[in-house]
Amino acid sequence: MLKNKYLQGVYDTVLIRNPGESEFHQAVFEVLESLEPFINRNPEFETNGVIEAFVEPERLLIFRVPWIDDSGRMRVNRGFRVQFNSAIGPYKGGIRFHPSVNVSVIKFLGFEQVLKNSLTTLPMGGGKGGSDFDPKGKSEAEIMRFCQSFMTELWRHIGANTDVPAGDIGVGAREVGYMFGQYKRLANSFEGGVITGKGISYGGSLGRTEATGYGLCYFTQEMLSQMKGDSFEGKTVVISGSGNVAVHACEKARQLGAKVVAMSDSGGYVYDPNGINVDIMKDIKLKRRARITTYADEVKTATYTPDCRKIWSVKCDIALPCATQNEIDRDSAEQLIANGVKVVSEGANMPCNMEATKAFLNAGVLFGPAKAANAGGVAVSGLEMTQNSMRLSWTFEDVDANLHGIMKSIFNNISSAAREYSAETDLVTGANIAGFLKVSEAMLAQGVV
Ligand code: NDP
Repeated sequence: MLKNKYLQGVYDTVLIRNPGESEFHQAVFEVLESLEPFINRNPEFETNGVIEAFVEPERLLIFRVPWIDDSGRMRVNRGFRVQFNSAIGPYKGGIRFHPSVNVSVIKFLGFEQVLKNSLTTLPMGGGKGGSDFDPKGKSEAEIMRFCQSFMTELWRHIGANTDVPAGDIGVGAREVGYMFGQYKRLANSFEGGVITGKGISYGGSLGRTEATGYGLCYFTQEMLSQMKGDSFEGKTVVISGSGNVAVHACEKARQLGAKVVAMSDSGGYVYDPNGINVDIMKDIKLKRRARITTYADEVKTATYTPDCRKIWSVKCDIALPCATQNEIDRDSAEQLIANGVKVVSEGANMPCNMEATKAFLNAGVLFGPAKAANAGGVAVSGLEMTQNSMRLSWTFEDVDANLHGIMKSIFNNISSAAREYSAETDLVTGANIAGFLKVSEAMLAQGVV
């Protein structure tokens, strides 16, 4: 239950309007809870209705995605796009291909994206999309046909000034390339700014592939330095996942002087007391698209455990969950705390459930919430859109320096909101209030939007 009666009423309406959508309920509850101190000081927000509009997506699209498999049989998946909020810019957010994708997952991701994009300081609204299509085990040709069919419906709803998708779980440069190619054929127009995460040869930005993982480490470094006078140097790190975000977080954490001792995929985790060799991991997971157990087959110092949740039993100073939502529950959080974890920073979206987040905050663990800590990816997507508009390409160093600056300003912005409305260490409240302030101001300024 929320303490504030008005906010509880808003939440009750969300429950009634969106039955059974547990991930969406969870994301909304966390944000409304954070807004309590803000509402108590700004009672006009109980009467102006903006919070009720804020939790209701502007538009939700659900569509059929038929495609032909290699045996010539028709398969059918379901496609989604939520265009959640366009108050501060065109809808912007990734596309996820994973069997767990449904309306609830897409709405939670879209809602979080609105706040995240607001924090980046760039003019981007929030959206998210995806499909319950499972890319695992599909041939290159099947992936291409699926992406083309997905875009055959989506293209009429997006545009550089309307809605700009990107990648997420199961969608990397390969899938973005196929979707962009199909958009170009249908629109008969080369519009680079219609999708981000593109290949470098056709309008992508240097540094976009690395941006979420690198940005996560820049944010965490800022937390460590400003809140504890500390750094990554000499720390032991555990990272869940081994996809785009996880692998680049591993690379940057190592560059900053830490040792990453464990990583996972949905099948299990590997532990390497000598430190994960990121080049081997990249080759296995990003190039060969093999299972993580291959790492233990090829690196003699590593061992494999076939249960990905057990990764949180590995002792570490810093935990970076970079796989998926709700991967750390209260039990895993308590195990990490008992083992002396000092920092948890979220690379994935909502990887810690509410009980886990509270356990970390109560135990005095530095906690970096996803909408701030993993905002580097969409920030560089914003920079990709800028380069596309200017018809210019910046160097890797320019993009990386820009990313570093953005992650620092996100930290400063949310920690000052945390100090003003809660406690300095409560970056969850800080991120939710700081993100909400900008969007709600724009919504009110534009009238009924
Ligand atoms: P990838 O598809 O590249 O990698 C996902 C990784 O997570 C894989 O190792 C995958 O293992 C693992 N995983 C997926 N589902 C589960 C599950 N149910 N249980 C355990 N492990 C799982 O995705 P990304 O790295 O791009 O995304 C990871 C997270 O980061 C997501 O939450 C995403 O929303 C978030 N994010 C991504 C951004 C980006 O720029 N890519 C930007 C901001 C946030 P397996 O190979 O076995 O499936």
